[in-house]
Amino acid sequence: PRAWTLKSRPKGMPTADNFALVDQPSATLEDNQIRVANRFLSVDPYMRGRMNDVKSYVPPFALGEPMQGGAIGEVIESRAADVPVGTKVQHMMGWRDEAVLSASQAQKLPSMDVPDEAFLGQFGMPGMTAYFGLLDVAEAKAGETVFVSAAAGAVGSTVVQIAKAKGMTVIGSAGGADKCDWVKSLGADDVIDYKAGDVVQALAKAAPDGIDVYFDNVGGDHLDAALLACRMHARFAICGMIDIYNEGQPQALKYLAKVIGARVTIKGFLVGDHMARVADFYADMGQWLKDGTLKREETIFDGLEKAPDAFLGLFTGANKGKMLVRV
Ligand code: NDP
Repeated sequence: PRAWTLKSRPKGMPTADNFALVDQPSATLEDNQIRVANRFLSVDPYMRGRMNDVKSYVPPFALGEPMQGGAIGEVIESRAADVPVGTKVQHMMGWRDEAVLSASQAQKLPSMDVPDEAFLGQFGMPGMTAYFGLLDVAEAKAGETVFVSAAAGAVGSTVVQIAKAKGMTVIGSAGGADKCDWVKSLGADDVIDYKAGDVVQALAKAAPDGIDVYFDNVGGDHLDAALLACRMHARFAICGMIDIYNEGQPQALKYLAKVIGARVTIKGFLVGDHMARVADFYADMGQWLKDGTLKREETIFDGLEKAPDAFLGLFTGANKGKMLVRV
């Protein structure tokens, strides 16, 4: 088996040189362990943070060790009675073609009528992030106007669709005309191509009456645009700030003081804090799936060798929907 390791810690945008694909000895199974042939690996923006040697909500990747991340695969050898050979599971030992782990570290895939890889995207962690962030953190309600950045990504494209399903007006932003057309096809009322001009002005024009909710995936100018556009008692769910994951230095926010007069609530969140509501997530998503409300998209890089390229593609916008690697 082979695994991707972090060879050196990137400064700024990572390069191929920061990663090394290494052969791993094949481990013998102990009691209650399973061997999983990974089929799909997730690459996610938060992994950039794990490449820095700093204390954060997830520990840094260790140099020279296989990296971790979401993965879906099939059990090919088992010493755990309740997880027999052939079981499809999800676990966190990604970035490799084969994983040996204890059965308790793997979850069987929920039974829903979607392809397995959807559980790494819209029906998995990114989808939950969209659902909890929009409905629980921002407390978005029918009739309100929502602005969401990185709207063509895994989280953002699901935010757009949940917001429409719940009767909200949605403005998305994405890079490039093709992505903007796609976001529109998901139901967004308006889409801003942030690469085509100033996002602050574009949002002011798209939402002349302001926004009630901002779902932030980007930070930077997008956050400033949302501040300028916010209505009274607006709520901001701060999900991510991909704009600064490589640079590390946030830019100054020109319109931050608007939070005072407009009584804005700005809340950061982590998806893992909201698992008490996961049954509601599956119930709603299952219903929307059945009635055809949801569209799902994945951008798939083929081959374990391509994992770093897929990961780096998150920062250049190479993905529509969820970015995945097929092993
Ligand atoms: P995406 O599928 O959205 O991929 C990232 C996208 O971000 C790219 O496709 C690109 O789209 C856009 N992007 C990259 N760099 C920039 C930039 N400098 N300015 C504007 N847009 C940029 O990833 P995810 O859906 O997995 O994650 C979205 C966000 O949610 C991230 O910030 C992530 O960290 C966060 N997150 C937070 C979680 C939490 O618990 N708080 C959980 C999961 C995700 P484009 O072509 O449009 O630029």
